[in-house]
Amino acid sequence: MDSARELMWNVPAIHLMYWALAATGVVFLFGMVRRIHAWRCGRPHIEGLRPFGLRLWFLVREVFGQRKIFRVRRPAWLHGLIFFGFLILLATTIAIGSDAHFGTRFFLGSAYRWWSLLADLAGLSCLVGIGLAFWRRGVQKPISLETRPVHYLMLVWLALIVLSGFLVQGTRMAAIGDPLVAFSPIGRLTASGLSMFSVEGLRQLHAVAWWGHTLIAFAWLALLPFTPFVHLILVPLNAFFGKTRPPGALARVDLEALLAADDGDLADFRIGLTTTGDLSWKQRLDLDACLDCGRCQDVCPAFAAGQSLSPRRFVAGLRRTVRSEAVPARQSSPDETAIEIVGQAFDPDFLWQCRTCRACDEVCPAHIDHVDTHIELRRGEVGMKGRMPGELEQMLRSLETHQNPFGAQSERIRWTETLGVPVIGPGDRCDVLYWMGCLSTFDPTQRVIAQDLIGYLTKAGVNVGVLGEGELCCGDPARVAGEENLFQTIARRQVAELQRRHFQTLLVSCPHCLNVLKNEYPTFDGRFNVVHHSQLLHYLMPNSIASPHKAGRGVFYHDPCYLGRYQGLYQPARNVLESGSGYRLAETRASKRDSFCCGAGGGHFWIDSRQGERPGVLRVRQAVASGAELIATACPYCRQMLEDAVKELHLSDRMQVVDIVSLIVERPEDGK
Ligand code: SF4
Ligand code: SF4
Repeated sequence: MDSARELMWNVPAIHLMYWALAATGVVFLFGMVRRIHAWRCGRPHIEGLRPFGLRLWFLVREVFGQRKIFRVRRPAWLHGLIFFGFLILLATTIAIGSDAHFGTRFFLGSAYRWWSLLADLAGLSCLVGIGLAFWRRGVQKPISLETRPVHYLMLVWLALIVLSGFLVQGTRMAAIGDPLVAFSPIGRLTASGLSMFSVEGLRQLHAVAWWGHTLIAFAWLALLPFTPFVHLILVPLNAFFGKTRPPGALARVDLEALLAADDGDLADFRIGLTTTGDLSWKQRLDLDACLDCGRCQDVCPAFAAGQSLSPRRFVAGLRRTVRSEAVPARQSSPDETAIEIVGQAFDPDFLWQCRTCRACDEVCPAHIDHVDTHIELRRGEVGMKGRMPGELEQMLRSLETHQNPFGAQSERIRWTETLGVPVIGPGDRCDVLYWMGCLSTFDPTQRVIAQDLIGYLTKAGVNVGVLGEGELCCGDPARVAGEENLFQTIARRQVAELQRRHFQTLLVSCPHCLNVLKNEYPTFDGRFNVVHHSQLLHYLMPNSIASPHKAGRGVFYHDPCYLGRYQGLYQPARNVLESGSGYRLAETRASKRDSFCCGAGGGHFWIDSRQGERPGVLRVRQAVASGAELIATACPYCRQMLEDAVKELHLSDRMQVVDIVSLIVERPEDGK
């Protein structure tokens, strides 16, 4: 005989449940519509629904895979216990409702047995998860985790839903039994604890428990849009509308179209973000989706270095400012209620402390694009207000005058001539065109990167050439400083310059150039096969070059943010080091996606940090703690910042910082 159980047993006045459900739906929808209205006051978002399939995949991956949540293990487990537990309980409730009202047969036969067991375990998992959440918030109290009474209230509420569910199950089993008690261990336990009641007493208790359980659950659901637990809806929504462009590609401002549209009258001209009225609906959704979990703050190099910037406070400040706007009327324009952001949400300093390292974006479980919003605010500060730190202003002046941030272009030409490598002019051809980058060209200590790379490639028989005077700055310093007009002028000029040459591969040794040439230039019709030197070296190195490790000699590989988190290139440099350098890789937890920024990004190569310690100093300490005697990296900016930190820590006699290419050209022939 098929095992089954009586559904909706002993439920008095069940028709009232439908009214309660309808009321729940109305309150829930009212809360959600209010939120949606607030988002819709934002400007259009550059990315729409397309590509729909990919967005759907983002949604499924985040909801069922909990990809971002599991980036930080310990809280992820408690979240998983609660989330998946409730997902199963919700599915069980829907199945019971469907069997009872629509005649489906989910709760029949062996399916009933396993479903029954699964639902019991799911309830238990929720209770364990809720207990751990209490422990974390109340006992562990991580500094960065925002805890308010409402968080405890919602957890208690959740626990009550589960406990009252077990009471319903237990009273039913005690009163009328169950064909397969073995598959309901918690229900059986509850039933045994109720054995002192008469059948009539159990019936009454069951009816009260059933209604109590139903009303508590409905009320929790109805109030969801008004509580922090609304993240259950907003996070999947934000994942669905997440960025489909490469992480390093910023939203392009069509300056020409903007100027043309204004027809000489610049009253409506706007670039970047200056007021809350400039925020897009997606940026407003971002702010709403924040869970206040503090993960972003935990990984922020500026915060760790003692500066005032905290990405959590950045989001909270913006959110607070947006919420302090007068409630916008349905038909009002965003400008009518807009509030200035910088100065109101946070101080200007706060904004300029960001290194654009993407550590916060990487760990944020709510899929918030901190870096893009930072840069848009900088665009607003520079483009609309003409405000920026003095050091960046100087750097941009050099960029405008010399087409690079470091000095006269004639110096580049002189240095290139010493390299003994063909200069590829317009119409010329080569296999690999090496874009040297400004720092490896102008800085005497970083020139070794270009020298070693060209030396290695020439020896390997690669047909390599350089641009010589045709190479100017790629524009990244202007881009991260928010000087969009200058960046776009440079990008257009350099795309045209590159298009006049014939080459298969555009090689770079600077990850910042890599990001701009690969991810930004395509929007200016510059599509090239851009490759970082770690990739090319890995490709060129025969496996046979692998040598026995030098016993005990460890190398700490520092993942540059713009190579790792921006491009996902973690392994090529490691492969080069492991097979070509003869050193043992000394890995720590702060590597790959969790790498810690050297502090140079976001224009900080030029800004002198006035507050706290330098992130580079913290990074060198991590390297020292790993037991390595050498730091290798694959970015001239990182190398410079880490070298400075080594000097600051007086470690120059025992710690060196080198580029990966220098390790493989020095080894093994010359015995170094
Ligand atoms: S990008 Fe890096 S420096 Fe900027 S807020 Fe995020 S973690 Fe901090
Ligand atoms: S921005 Fe993201 S990581 Fe930071 S507190 Fe909010 S949800 Fe957490």
